Amino acid sequence: MRVTFRKMFKNVCTFLSCISSGKSGALTLKKCLHSKPNFTKNNYNIIRGNYSHVEEEHLYYFRKLLGETRIVTDLSDLEKYNVDWHKSLRGGSTIVLKPKTTEEVSKILSFCNSNRLAVCPQGGHTGVVGGGTPVFDEVVISTELMNEIISLDEKSGVLTCQAGCILQNVDEYLAEKNLVFPLDLGAKGSCHIGGNVSTNAGGLRVLKYGNLHGNVLGLEVVQANGVILDLLSTLKKDNTGYHLKNLFIGAEGTLGVLTKVAVQCRQRPKSVHVAFLGLQNFHQVLKTFYKCKQDMDEILTAFEVIDTPTMTLVNEKLGMQSPIGDYPFYVLIETSGSNEEHDQEKLDAFLKSCLLKNFILNGTVTGEVGKLKAIWALREKIPQGFAKDGYVFMYDMSLPLHNYYKLVDDMREHMGKLSHRVFGFGHLGDGNLHLNISVQKYTPEIAKHIEPFIFERTVHYKGSVSAEHGMGFLKSKYLGLMKSQESINVMRNIKKMMDPNGILNPYKTLG
Ligand SMILES: Cc1cc2nc3c(=O)[nH]c(=O)nc-3n(C[C@H](O)[C@H](O)[C@H](O)COP(=O)(O)OP(=O)(O)OC[C@H]3O[C@@H](n4cnc5c(N)ncnc54)[C@H](O)[C@@H]3O)c2cc1C
Repeated sequence: MRVTFRKMFKNVCTFLSCISSGKSGALTLKKCLHSKPNFTKNNYNIIRGNYSHVEEEHLYYFRKLLGETRIVTDLSDLEKYNVDWHKSLRGGSTIVLKPKTTEEVSKILSFCNSNRLAVCPQGGHTGVVGGGTPVFDEVVISTELMNEIISLDEKSGVLTCQAGCILQNVDEYLAEKNLVFPLDLGAKGSCHIGGNVSTNAGGLRVLKYGNLHGNVLGLEVVQANGVILDLLSTLKKDNTGYHLKNLFIGAEGTLGVLTKVAVQCRQRPKSVHVAFLGLQNFHQVLKTFYKCKQDMDEILTAFEVIDTPTMTLVNEKLGMQSPIGDYPFYVLIETSGSNEEHDQEKLDAFLKSCLLKNFILNGTVTGEVGKLKAIWALREKIPQGFAKDGYVFMYDMSLPLHNYYKLVDDMREHMGKLSHRVFGFGHLGDGNLHLNISVQKYTPEIAKHIEPFIFERTVHYKGSVSAEHGMGFLKSKYLGLMKSQESINVMRNIKKMMDPNGILNPYKTLG
């Protein structure tokens, strides 16, 4: 069956070897900081809150607590903490603190709270809505030295680690025990588990493992006043009182600083296959997805879509090519399971049927690790292409599938010649669209042309203005489009109760 199916596809092996991929296929995100963005406070006209500035007496306390080597004050060293990954935001923090323990975080927060110093918790700084980038001179609390794996119960799969562990490092550690972290994303080589939990990151495996609300079993959190909250349960079921842990998942550092995380990991799949397909139009993409769910739901891990402008970008800016030639749409499907023969048979039968029904025009399928990584690299490296395409406005919507690509078409029409390109790609299996718009240069006029139009359209199509990236700094003012005033009031009351001086990540999430 497999051979027959393969004969139906063009020979793609030579193409596959053309796709460049790193050793592991994952990205270690290196920031290229030669061009500096304007200060966020100026670009967005933000008024500084009533906080203290960092003075010599504060520095004295921090030096005594952490020593010289775990404090950054040098201007050029500060730059990577002040500028976001896409180089579109820039804060003016004068100090970065690098605690190693929960107790140190507790002392820092207690001190900042008493001295009314605003703080910005920061993990791998790969967030794309500016949540981890200071706006003014907030004290950056970086978790980069909080990187210890605390325990792993190999039988239950429960892993407990410090918040600053890098996702890829944790997953590599788990691989040695035949386990897998229930989250995967393009920034895995840099992002931290604490950052992942604080953004409720989605990524590439939500279809199979669900989101972090289900997978995070427990947390340890330091509150604004320095009090340590031990919510580090490792139980799968625990219905005692309010589920406080869930408050911090997706809170973007506005309610506390996460110091430890307990996660339910899964058995590493024994068989993994990836199919990369070319399709005629979005209608066929949907048909393929619905059939995919019907035929292989139990082994489906990912269903990603990429449109032509996005693939052209990857080709032009990163020199990577589609292994199957040019098509209006591309779909990447990953299956994973425990029985190689069974999974292969299912995938082959599905693909054969899609070809016969003309849902798909061409494709390639592989179970070989190297080729599999090469195909994934095409999808995972897309954000690197944006970093080279002028200024990019980035959006991350949830949409009902029948409206998924309408928004991209609408935005193309709306932008006309104002934009260089409008891109549509994303985790279609979760109804999650990444819609990006590249322009030559940021101007407030273009920003006003895009927003709030794009968000209003999203709401009109019954979607959400943030599927997985959070509200951070960039989207916080649009919260009212998604949530009722009553809900926002409850959120503000929670924030006031947990952080009465408002020192935790001001200007973010609730604005
Ligand atoms: C190439 C690329 C691909 C990406 N792909 C995806 C994807 O598929 N899915 C997805 O969801 N996101 C994706 N992202 C966005 C980003 O990687 C995620 O949001 C990630 O979870 C951020 O983790 P981080 O450690 O970098 O957090 P940061 O960017 O440092 O911070 C993010 C937010 O969390 C807060 N925070 C960080 N650490 C803590 C802590 N210990 N306690 C409290 N608050 C904290 C910060 O204050 C900030 O508000 C991608 C980004 C890039 C650059």
